[in-house]
Amino acid sequence: MEPHTGSYYAASAHAYPAFASLEGEVEADVAVIGGGFTGINAAIELADRGLRVVVLEANRIGWGASGRNGGQITGSLSGDVAMARQFRRTLGAQTENYIWNLRWRGHEIIRKRVARFGIDCDLKPGHLQAALKPAHVTDLKALAQEAEARGMGDEVRYVEGKALADLIEAPIYIGGVHNTRNMHVHSLNLVTGEAMAAQSLGVRIFEGSQVTGIRRGKRPVVTTAKGRVICDSVLLAGNAYHGLAQGRMRGVLFPASLGIIATEPLPEDVARAINPQDIAVYDNRFVLDYHRLSADRRLIFGGGTNYTGAETVDLAAELRPALERTYPRLKGVGIDYQWSGRAGIIANRIPHLGRIGPNIFFAEGYSGHGIATTHIVAEIMADAMTGTMGEFDVFDAVRRLRLPVGSWLTHQALALGMLYYKFRERMT
Ligand SMILES: Cc1cc2nc3c(=O)[nH]c(=O)nc-3n(C[C@H](O)[C@H](O)[C@H](O)COP(=O)(O)OP(=O)(O)OC[C@H]3O[C@@H](n4cnc5c(N)ncnc54)[C@H](O)[C@@H]3O)c2cc1C
Repeated sequence: MEPHTGSYYAASAHAYPAFASLEGEVEADVAVIGGGFTGINAAIELADRGLRVVVLEANRIGWGASGRNGGQITGSLSGDVAMARQFRRTLGAQTENYIWNLRWRGHEIIRKRVARFGIDCDLKPGHLQAALKPAHVTDLKALAQEAEARGMGDEVRYVEGKALADLIEAPIYIGGVHNTRNMHVHSLNLVTGEAMAAQSLGVRIFEGSQVTGIRRGKRPVVTTAKGRVICDSVLLAGNAYHGLAQGRMRGVLFPASLGIIATEPLPEDVARAINPQDIAVYDNRFVLDYHRLSADRRLIFGGGTNYTGAETVDLAAELRPALERTYPRLKGVGIDYQWSGRAGIIANRIPHLGRIGPNIFFAEGYSGHGIATTHIVAEIMADAMTGTMGEFDVFDAVRRLRLPVGSWLTHQALALGMLYYKFRERMT
């Protein structure tokens, strides 16, 4: 079992009682593999529907992307453009409305879950999607117009000039969409709070319990080093970490490495000057920079993606120039933490939901925008695993590009594809 990565989140996490590792045989209706947002929230949803659930986590709860991300809960849905094309085959004229509502559904689930279980996780509203160049301004004005047309004009508005400067002291931005429905959060405290909520609903959680095999059959058997779970169905929620892909799952998800740093705590006047309303920010590029203040006034700054999955050794050196370009006032600021995590990238960026045979389900691949989406997907998977297939079928019907994962050629192709997007972006 690996401890949490050396992140700001791990250093500032609330203590929670460690869960034992699995020893011996247990029975359940559902075995969930992976204790991140997908697995833990699916467990909550399944327990709420009356099922006996076991969660098996190889390391600690929130050890993966869920406990070490940028903490931004936004309406950015990865793969939305491809979704609009692909969902039309199953949803027809409802497609646009469905996708628009999907953007905001995770926010509601998270708000309700935090309130219902009293989870202390620094959840705060406020976000800016920032423009670096005129082409971004055009896109963002269109986004604000759509929000207004759909009745969200009070919460989503385009800003520039003084209105922008009142939100953020970052001279590289020339405009942006200020969104008060979007939020930010201490993601590790959210996922561990949710794990304790799941436990209170009767879910049995095991840490240090890496699943090494799944035996398919009428009653699947999930095995770990010292135990096994006999169940009616399995949910594989290990995202970019599990290496358990079988059958049609293979060759769809590619692990990419994303890096983040956290500065020393900023003096109160500096924090207030750079970000007076304590909002989260990301820019409008395909491979974007994202940042926000922590509760103890550190700047958490993430950016860049390594699509070969390799981890950068000195993230602080790599990210400092972008941080200082964004916030000139922070030139020379101390950097206390640096860490990276794996995101599951899908070629068309549409989250990968499906099943292998009748009772082995999987949900993965949020392509870097997963906090809200995992909470929605948990609902969709719990519905499917209890017989309500409608939304699951929409995702399951998506056509996928399959490539030999792990091969040198695949990683080069992926990196090249991403370079193409970066290049195209520079040209507009
Ligand atoms: C650096 C970074 C920054 C990000 N920033 C944002 C952001 O600001 N906003 C946003 O919306 N999204 C962000 N994301 C994406 C988001 O964090 C993920 O989409 C989301 O957390 C995925 O959750 P998950 O539960 O599916 O996977 P994970 O959280 O990765 O959980 C998978 C878990 O499965 C466990 N596991 C794997 N294999 C096994 C096995 N064989 N047996 C048992 N357990 C196993 C792992 O140990 C892990 O804990 C970011 C991701 C990264 C990496």
